[in-house]
Amino acid sequence: MRKPIIGGNWKMNRGTPKEAKEMLDSLIPLVKDFHSVDIVISAPFTVLTTMHDILKDTNIKLGAQNMYFQEKGAYTGEISPLFLKNIGVEYVILGHSERRDIFNESDAMVNEKLKMALSMDLKPIVCIGEHLEEREAGKAKKIIENQFNETFKNLTKEDMLNVIIAYEPIWAIGTGKTATPEQAEEIHVFIRDLLIKKFDEETSKSIRIQYGGSINPDNAEDLFNKKNIDGGLVGGASLQADSLSQIIKAANSTFM
Ligand code: PEP
Repeated sequence: MRKPIIGGNWKMNRGTPKEAKEMLDSLIPLVKDFHSVDIVISAPFTVLTTMHDILKDTNIKLGAQNMYFQEKGAYTGEISPLFLKNIGVEYVILGHSERRDIFNESDAMVNEKLKMALSMDLKPIVCIGEHLEEREAGKAKKIIENQFNETFKNLTKEDMLNVIIAYEPIWAIGTGKTATPEQAEEIHVFIRDLLIKKFDEETSKSIRIQYGGSINPDNAEDLFNKKNIDGGLVGGASLQADSLSQIIKAANSTFM
């Protein structure tokens, strides 16, 4: 059985040490007894060091939201995976749709970042998902298959076993429109089939696939009860301790 994983993605919010500390001081006691779920918070770079100190000896892991695919050099404004590793970051979100759509990150670039993250022993949470027009045109699976093939190009089975996939239909991110549990499950099954085709059944069964897109305390349980949904990547609802802890509780109870 796969242990569910909840990732909070704070995006460009809670980026001062005071804001991060306030949130964590509320969250830590609310989730301290949930051991049947992995919990990760991906925060702005400016608070990662502060968070590392606050999170040690808790069951919450530290994540970043992006990184570059080089270790160092003349890449003004970019963040090296070495720096992240050095300050105790364990997870990194790669290929979030906001990176792809606003900052033009291609599948090829996400693939470079992914290979670099794996070589540094960072645990990548890799996002794939379709736009609304693509879904409405009946192309969701085709788009996801292309993203899957390009993003996971040249990865070995051993590499892949260290990857967490986040299926994030772009039309559901930050819009309040959640995919129904059935819509999400259908794509998760499709991704598992792609994993079987590219690797094998055992790999497909082992990899965690999160759902992301307007998860909240009211819809979390129904989503996480689906067999192929292994927790979620949570944006808006991860900014408040109360809503995030309820979502974590829902994921925790599906594994017990
Ligand atoms: C996200 O940013 O990955 C996300 C799913 O956001 P939200 O939960 O706000 O839709």
